[in-house]
Amino acid sequence: MTDTHDDTQALPDFPYHPDPVATGSIAPSDTECICCERVRGFIYLGPVYAVDEIDEELCPWCIADGSAAERFGAQFTEVEGVVPLDTVRAIEQRTPGFSGWQQERWLTHCGDGAIFRGHAGAAELAPHPDAIAAIEADLDRYRRAPAQVDHFMSSLDKDGQPTGYAFECRICGAWLAYADFT
Ligand SMILES: [Zn+2]
Ligand SMILES: [Zn+2]
Repeated sequence: MTDTHDDTQALPDFPYHPDPVATGSIAPSDTECICCERVRGFIYLGPVYAVDEIDEELCPWCIADGSAAERFGAQFTEVEGVVPLDTVRAIEQRTPGFSGWQQERWLTHCGDGAIFRGHAGAAELAPHPDAIAAIEADLDRYRRAPAQVDHFMSSLDKDGQPTGYAFECRICGAWLAYADFT
């Protein structure tokens, strides 16, 4: 075997994004990380907000320990809602983000950041009426007619547009979601 991946090496623990490979934010890669300058076997694919353009060049370990955020002034998402500053920093600077069509929003609940569960279409949201209700409440603020709401909800596509973004509260277990409105 010439494969240099060490698949037994566990990814860092990301309490707000526990399965970033499943959500597509981290993938196996032979790319060298521009922060630790090592080939770690995995690379981060999500957005990086920094002065320099950084595109698929950071390893999960340099995100987890804050070194990428510190060295490049980078953050990976934006927290929405009022949570303690330590929580904001843990999510924005030490957690892999996710790609959205529009500006990403990291949802919060019960005074804590929620767990990102991934992109979600109508099928993925169906088992979670609380997540559906959250998107419908957003739509309500735009005063959409019920028929429009139904059409929008059924058109949500995990791999297309519009898409939903699903979260789970770490405290109460409620599912939350938002969607891009185009
Ligand atoms: Zn690194
Ligand atoms: Zn909650």
